[in-house]
Amino acid sequence: MLPVRSCAEYLSEQGRELYVAQVGTGTRHLWIQGRIHGDEPYGLDSLMTVLRSLASSGSPTYRQIREQFTIHFIPVYNPDGSEMNTRTTTLWDETTNQPRLGANGRPLTVDLNRDWAVNGFRARESRAWYEYWTMVKPEYALDIHHQGMKVDRTTGEAITLSLGVSLAPGGPTLPGIRGGEYDVLTRQMAGHVWQQVDHRGHITTDRYDVGEGVVIDIHGGVVSAMMMGLNWNGLNPTGHSNAAIFFETSGNTRDGSLGQKARGKLIQQNMLGVEAWLSGLATGAVQRLDPEIWEQIPHDPVQYYFTDWGGTIPA
Ligand SMILES: [Zn+2]
Repeated sequence: MLPVRSCAEYLSEQGRELYVAQVGTGTRHLWIQGRIHGDEPYGLDSLMTVLRSLASSGSPTYRQIREQFTIHFIPVYNPDGSEMNTRTTTLWDETTNQPRLGANGRPLTVDLNRDWAVNGFRARESRAWYEYWTMVKPEYALDIHHQGMKVDRTTGEAITLSLGVSLAPGGPTLPGIRGGEYDVLTRQMAGHVWQQVDHRGHITTDRYDVGEGVVIDIHGGVVSAMMMGLNWNGLNPTGHSNAAIFFETSGNTRDGSLGQKARGKLIQQNMLGVEAWLSGLATGAVQRLDPEIWEQIPHDPVQYYFTDWGGTIPA
């Protein structure tokens, strides 16, 4: 894989290289990132698997994907947090090679998925990946996360995958962006993946939330800022923006060891999901789908939006 840039400016806070792998020869660009939260490993594992088959498979679908798109795979957005097995990263003092400390004497940590904000970009990773995004100008993005264990309260089934994004469809922000274009595309992308993977093998899918009837609407999330066309530091003067979705696989390292068997299944689930997303975009099946499908994906009625810009907002 290629380092984003070889100069020191594009290293992580602790000096690790930031890697991106490119596959395909198309003029349309896609962005897939994993492990922005360091303790959520399956983004990396599944992307490496997809990368291998995408680079070598002779199947007509994969050929079509490679011909239409250049895909930018970021398997480890947060290499320091991955090494430390923490959600956040730690701001680092290069001269002492120690964490930078806050007023309370504790190390300064940053959730990289709140750091693409006008007053953000505290971590070097955020600045590097943002600048790379302004160079790539992708058409769509996918962000792979983990959530806690989740159970369908009606059926009692374990939910293995939740679909959504960090700006709620129908919420206070997304419908106002580009006349609702990304609100529709979020519903279509999530709906397509749901149709393709739900109840395949062990996979049970629903809509992403952070509590019963609570969904997030955060502006500082990386893919939120992408959809909002953030122009930070004058690096995005044309106001490029792109639609995006999240995959939230159940279980992360905070939930303890899931065992090898579960781990293999969860990696496979992400792999099938990524393949469904890619092929749906390549064939146009995503863009043809009725966005009303979003309502069919199992979910609790939305009651509150949890924001990083206006507190908690009733739906
Ligand atoms: Zn996460």
